[in-house]
Amino acid sequence: MTRSMAAVGWRFDNSYARLSELLCTPADPVPVRTPGLVLLNEPLAAELGLDAGLLREAGAAIFAGNELPPGAEPIAQAYAGHQFGHFTNLGDGRAILLGEQLTPAGHRRDIQLKGAGRTRYSRGGDGRAALGPMLREYVVSEAMQALGIPTTRSLAVATTGEVVMRTTPLPGAVLTRVASSHIRVGTFQYAAAVGRRDLLEALLEHAIARHDPELADLDAGDRPVAFLEAVVERQAALVARWMLVGFVHGVMNTDNMAVSGETIDYGPCAFLDAYDPATVFSSIDEHGRYAYANQPAIAHWNLARLAESLLPLIPGEGDAVIERARGVLDTYPDRFAGHHLAGARAKLGLATAEAGDRPLFDELLERMHRAGADFTATFAGLTAAVQATASGQASAAPLPFPDWADAWRARLAREPAPAAEIAARMRQANPLVIPRNHRVEEALTAAEGGDRGPLKRLLDALRDPCTATAANEPYRGGPPPGCGKYRTFCGT
Ligand code: AMP
Ligand code: MG
Repeated sequence: MTRSMAAVGWRFDNSYARLSELLCTPADPVPVRTPGLVLLNEPLAAELGLDAGLLREAGAAIFAGNELPPGAEPIAQAYAGHQFGHFTNLGDGRAILLGEQLTPAGHRRDIQLKGAGRTRYSRGGDGRAALGPMLREYVVSEAMQALGIPTTRSLAVATTGEVVMRTTPLPGAVLTRVASSHIRVGTFQYAAAVGRRDLLEALLEHAIARHDPELADLDAGDRPVAFLEAVVERQAALVARWMLVGFVHGVMNTDNMAVSGETIDYGPCAFLDAYDPATVFSSIDEHGRYAYANQPAIAHWNLARLAESLLPLIPGEGDAVIERARGVLDTYPDRFAGHHLAGARAKLGLATAEAGDRPLFDELLERMHRAGADFTATFAGLTAAVQATASGQASAAPLPFPDWADAWRARLAREPAPAAEIAARMRQANPLVIPRNHRVEEALTAAEGGDRGPLKRLLDALRDPCTATAANEPYRGGPPPGCGKYRTFCGT
């Protein structure tokens, strides 16, 4: 270890590696030919207690997997999952967990290299990742963070100097992913499938310690259901947030759902431009299982798989056990609806509640669908109208759907808050910029060709999505006409 390496600030404590050898396998990153640092997230480095200056100088070797930071104990995690409804044993086939960094604020954060070479779970895969998809995960996950939506983070992207073979040869890269944990619904499915109660129990205790420490005080028999309830609540809140910004995850397999409630595994995800609830971007989602509008129901289905996995730990006999789990699962639709309605009200500028609010929001979506209206721009337009009223100006652009807008204005008139306050609320709920598909593609194509300018500008534009800034001004518009249907690809 060099002196500067020690000074970087690594402070690992690897509780998952100690948990059970049945849940993970030691796995060293496979060194690459020529490590090169493409992106380093300096604010995130600082949050983690790492010296960004030293990482910029000497971090490429670590972020490409050629050198291990002090205290790392690299492992690949085992998990299972329902992929498009079919159960499979999986595991980290191209990701290696270096360890858990203890941050100055007292948090524990997984540091994982994605694309770091083959592991025991790679099956036929090469364990590698291409530069485009790793940059894409960096851009979209950091955009989600800026939107205030729980997500795994991206610390760095390093190139490998090697080629990965996909349908064409592509430049290889490694993404350093940061997460409050990588425990998935599929991790519980794996532990349950092993059929050892002690393993499942150990995983549950570990997950509780990391995500729901307040549950540790409950009786052992009450913890599984309380944990299930906590995950149900986090997922209901998370998926509501996705819906309210037009995010389509694209591959909501149970192995891609984290019990932390963070958005994880940015493969074929994308944001809506024109509002259409049936939107599917992923080229492999032939039947639209993970279409925009299906996401709330799919999350519920995935949570039922978590509930099943926890059944062996719930005390009682037969149906009584199932009923306890079902009692919690059945709260999901109302929890989701509650979060979604609260968010919908915020988008419309409403702080009070009336029974007509849900139909008012649904009616707007219905009209947007029929008109093919842009999701983000429509809500930004409503915000601009209220802002204009607040500052006593005429609205710059006419409101869409005039009779709907009349009903909305009548509803707003019953809000006690002044227009300026309503406008401020709407600004926070209605981003001006999202990672538009055509902008992401443009940035990735340029970066693959060696020009990082568009990528840096896009990242700058996404940093403060709810405020009009010089950096985001060029990024607010929708796709140019004739852009065609956007397609994304998985496992690339
Ligand atoms: P995903 O669809 O990205 O969630 O991946 C599903 C499974 O395939 C996970 O277990 C991954 O680790 C594995 N996988 C994806 N790409 C590769 C690859 N290039 N090499 C090995 N395993 C992979
Ligand atoms: Mg995955």
